Order: sequence, then structure tokens, then C-alpha cells
Amino acid sequence: MKGTEAPGNAAFCGSRGKKILPGGSVVRHWTDTQVEQYQYTNAQLGPSACAPAGVLTCINMLSALPRDPASRMALTQGLVRLVRQRSCNCRHDTIASDSTCDVPLQMYLLSRSNCGGGGIVPIIDVVEAHCPDVVGAALIIGEHSPFEKGQLLDWVAQWMQDGAALTLTTNRQKFWDYEKKQRRLITGSMPDACHAQPIVGVDIEKREVIMANPVKSIAEEDVEATVASPPTLRIRGNEVLLHCEGVETTKISQFNWPTDAWRDADVSQQVLLLRKHFPGELWVQANKAFVTIPYAGTGKHVGPLLRLFAPRSSEAGKRILTSRDPTSYLISV
Ligand SMILES: [Zn+2]
Repeated sequence: MKGTEAPGNAAFCGSRGKKILPGGSVVRHWTDTQVEQYQYTNAQLGPSACAPAGVLTCINMLSALPRDPASRMALTQGLVRLVRQRSCNCRHDTIASDSTCDVPLQMYLLSRSNCGGGGIVPIIDVVEAHCPDVVGAALIIGEHSPFEKGQLLDWVAQWMQDGAALTLTTNRQKFWDYEKKQRRLITGSMPDACHAQPIVGVDIEKREVIMANPVKSIAEEDVEATVASPPTLRIRGNEVLLHCEGVETTKISQFNWPTDAWRDADVSQQVLLLRKHFPGELWVQANKAFVTIPYAGTGKHVGPLLRLFAPRSSEAGKRILTSRDPTSYLISV
């Protein structure tokens, strides 16, 4: 059964002996089979619930889920409650020329911008309230990675070796763009999405990160090439045009956007340009054109990030407590 409690403690396997990791070249919490058995997924928790799924998987990797079902349910619900949803279920692949929706464009775009797991502090507060032996922290990656080349894997491995479990939120659009440049397929690339995934392990010799939800290995060079990203999100053109069908051009140009980031992105202008390219009934074909908006699903101006959890008494837990900012819970590299 998925999402059930995992037996025992984190397992560190591989024994080819690299000095950085006493346990060998691979540091990992679970085997791939254990991941399939014990991870939490969006399918269990609901749409846009990749952050709570990743966090719960981390806590399970630490064998620190509350033991009694009621407390475990309270933890799960506390995390899922933080997820902000889309305002409606209009999706590019289900929209047709006769589709209609009452949600106005601005509301639609704002909900897409905020869609996601609930930032940094609220998630850690929920975890620490329900799992008193666990502490959390976050490292913002943002637009410019804080890691030197070749540093990210070793940094993650060291935290894991010291007892931590981590999730990585990436901008899948970066993979999408990178894939085209590299002319090879990258699993999980998407033109219009961000995604949080637990890190199951790191292979220091093969230079790979092993992720869950879904299980896959990503080469270090691919992670490094795509991990940093400004907090932006692309929205499919047909989704945009459906939500402003019949709205006058002057009204769109006068939309009052909520922040400078929205105004700097010139969202009204982008929408009007899109309309010009897909006039009249052509709007439905605009699923490969995009409008770029600010993304706040991981927090305002945050973008990609790593979340760390560890038993309070572990090396990692002690380091989190001494190094994290007491109010933002942020750590640095
Ligand atoms: Zn809609």
C-alpha cells in the first residue's frame, strides 16, 4: 500500500568506497521498490499536491510519521490544506472551440501563479507541530544557483549522510527548453509546470540524483543546467484566450495587475499580442503559444528550492537548528 509507514531506518547502500561517504558511492534512503511502496503521490493527495506528497515521503524516509492513524491524518490534512488550487479545471488538452468558463482571466492567471504547496514556513510549521522530533529548513535556489559547479550533489549527499531527507522543487519548463537545446528527451519536462519531488538518493560516482514521484535518475549536468530559474510560469495560449473571450481589448490593456512583477512581465500586452496572432475562432489552436506570468507557488520571488527535514537529534537536525534563520527557516550553502 502506498504511503504506508516504511520499516527501519534510512538505508545506505553501495560499497565501492569513496571517502566522502563512509557508506559507499551511493547514499539513498530507499531502494526503487521501496519508493514505489512507501512514497506519497499526487494521485493519493489530490491535484497540485506534489509539495505535501514530497514532504510526507521525506518524513516517511526518516521513519518519523506519527504512529497513530489520527495524528498521521492530521499531519496529512494540515499539509494538503496549504495547497492552493487552480480556480477552475480548464486545461489545454480538454479545451474545445465550444468550451466556456465563468472565471475571469485575471482570477485564472492569479490562481495559476499561486498554485502549489504553501511556501516555506507554513509547511515546516505543520511538520514540526505534528512530528515534534523532526526539524525543517529550506534553501532557495532561485534564478542564480547558490551552488558552484559540481557542488550540488555532494551537498545533498552530505546532508543525507548526516540524516536528512530532502525535496527539490524544479521548474519543469527549464527541462523543456533544455531538452530542445540538447536534442534528447529529458523525463518529466513540461512547458508549463513546476514540480516538487523527494530526493531518494545520490550516486556520487555516476553523478546522478535519484528522485521519487515519479522515480527517475537525473544526471548531474542536467540538474545543474536546469535547476536555477526565475519564479515564472508559462500559461498555454488557449487557456488564456478562453478566459478572456469576449472581453474588450481596452479592458485587457487596463487590467490592474497585483504587483510590479506582473506589470514588468507586461501581461496585458502579452495577452493582446496572443489575441492578435489567434484571432476569432483560431483561439482554440493557441496551445503551443504561451503567456509568461510570475510564479508564487513556492513563495513570493522564490522559484526553485530545496526543503530539508531531519530528526532533531541527528547531525543534520542539529545543524538545521544552529544554522537556519529563526523566522524564515532559510539556510545557505
Ligand atoms: Zn476556466
